[in-house]
Amino acid sequence: MTNRNTWLAKVRRTFTSVLPVSKKRMGKCADCGACCKLPNECPFLKYKEDWKSYCSIHGLRPLNCRKYPRVKWEHVTEDTCGYKFK
Ligand code: SF4
Repeated sequence: MTNRNTWLAKVRRTFTSVLPVSKKRMGKCADCGACCKLPNECPFLKYKEDWKSYCSIHGLRPLNCRKYPRVKWEHVTEDTCGYKFK
């Protein structure tokens, strides 16, 4: 992860999460849980027996979680994320 993994970056993601997801985003979530640790591990992040992650408040999760990675600049978890940008 890069130095974009900061609380300031999270605040920015939160405020811009009302905007649409980029049409250049492809793929799907691979349940790696990396985005649930930006910048610190979320208390609602849980793991299944196969160590895939899940959100224990999935239906209530905030917009910045629902839309991550919304645009390329906020995608700091490229190494493990199932989403890619064209
Ligand atoms: S980083 Fe990507 S693949 Fe991993 S949990 Fe978040 S959206 Fe899903």
